[in-house]
Amino acid sequence: MTAAPPIGFAGPDVPLLEDVRSCIHCGFCLPSCPTYLATGSELDSPRGRLHLIGAILDGRIEANEHVLPHLDLCLQCRACETACPSNVPFGQIMEDARAAVVAGPEAPRAWSLRALALRNVVGRREVLRAALAPARLATRFGLQEKARPWIRRAFGLRAPMLEAQLDALAARPFRRSGVLARPPEARARVAMLTGCVQGELTPRMHEATLRVLARLGCEVVAPPAQVCCGALHAHAGDAETARDLARRNIEAFEAAAVDAVIVNAAGCGAAMKEYPRLFRNDPTWLARAERFAATVRDATEYVTSIEGFDRGLGPIDAVATLQDSCHLAHAQGIREAPRRILNAIPGLQVRELKTPDRCCGAAGLYSLVQPEMSRAVLEEKLNDVEATGAEVVCTSNPGCTLQLAGGIVSRGLEARAVHVLELLDESYRARR
Ligand code: SF4
Ligand code: SF4
Repeated sequence: MTAAPPIGFAGPDVPLLEDVRSCIHCGFCLPSCPTYLATGSELDSPRGRLHLIGAILDGRIEANEHVLPHLDLCLQCRACETACPSNVPFGQIMEDARAAVVAGPEAPRAWSLRALALRNVVGRREVLRAALAPARLATRFGLQEKARPWIRRAFGLRAPMLEAQLDALAARPFRRSGVLARPPEARARVAMLTGCVQGELTPRMHEATLRVLARLGCEVVAPPAQVCCGALHAHAGDAETARDLARRNIEAFEAAAVDAVIVNAAGCGAAMKEYPRLFRNDPTWLARAERFAATVRDATEYVTSIEGFDRGLGPIDAVATLQDSCHLAHAQGIREAPRRILNAIPGLQVRELKTPDRCCGAAGLYSLVQPEMSRAVLEEKLNDVEATGAEVVCTSNPGCTLQLAGGIVSRGLEARAVHVLELLDESYRARR
């Protein structure tokens, strides 16, 4: 008997039934899923979501308003992949499912609008800069303090993230391109992904990364033709825009002829290492994407591969903890590198979180589109942070840093949130 066609799924990115069927229903993933832990509902668990997607593919249920909220509530944190003994590619399945919904005739308006906004704002630097310009101007006149009460009243649970973003706009943006550093007798030539939102909201991460790479003897370039990595678009189901951005980045970085492409945002790095997934139906671009992906390195991964990175460090007398950014730990499988960096800093006391690799609730746009769940997940994380007594909370992703910065302010903790490389840079600079 042949299965009925899926209702509500369309386009070239429909999830593969064999991927969905690789789930053996063991339930090992359930205790690692933040949304299942929060709701206790099987439908908000990885296994439940796979069951829903499989039933749509079999034509047994429709992708409709009763089903899609459970898919939308997924953080795409991929903790379930780490827990899964059957290697179910959950991240790919969820991205495909969202793309298949957005490509279909019954796509919810909110999903389509989200994809449209990402395509036309985040995917285009000039538009993004123009959209942020009024808020940036307000910070120049010190108006963010006056805006805080209004933001809290108007945006409720979304306020901490928005306040953190507003605070971040007070810093001078990072918009440099071309050759950024050329130390004499460079040991390697690398390119930096400068990204879309990141240069605008977390420029200090780029400045710190650049100083660290230059100090370690790397020539650093930022190809001017590079664009947004496309991660947010892929997560929101706009696979076409993600593919378009991926092609443009592959061309831009290929032309730069570098030894490695360094990414200090774990979400972007994971997306770029996984560009081949976007081209599974396109053999020409698949081969190029595979060659490109092999050159992508997370900044912590690259730095710790350089012999002597841990020499010449000055003291930082503080208690620090590490939030394993989901797309570093679960998607890229990197846990050791950020810890090696922190443990190398003299004077720094590193205290582990109870659940360091549980999502903080940032998850790209999630804190803005799912504010209740994002806040619930963040509160758990803040409890964990508070119990360590950390004064510095380190991450490897700008979204996590902003989410934690917002949470720290709203809870009134005496702490700051930074990227691991910002702390490494501080330590090099603290050498007397
Ligand atoms: S990606 Fe995260 S939120 Fe989504 S099902 Fe897996 S563990 Fe749960
Ligand atoms: S751990 Fe893997 S195989 Fe087991 S229920 Fe979860 S997704 Fe399915």
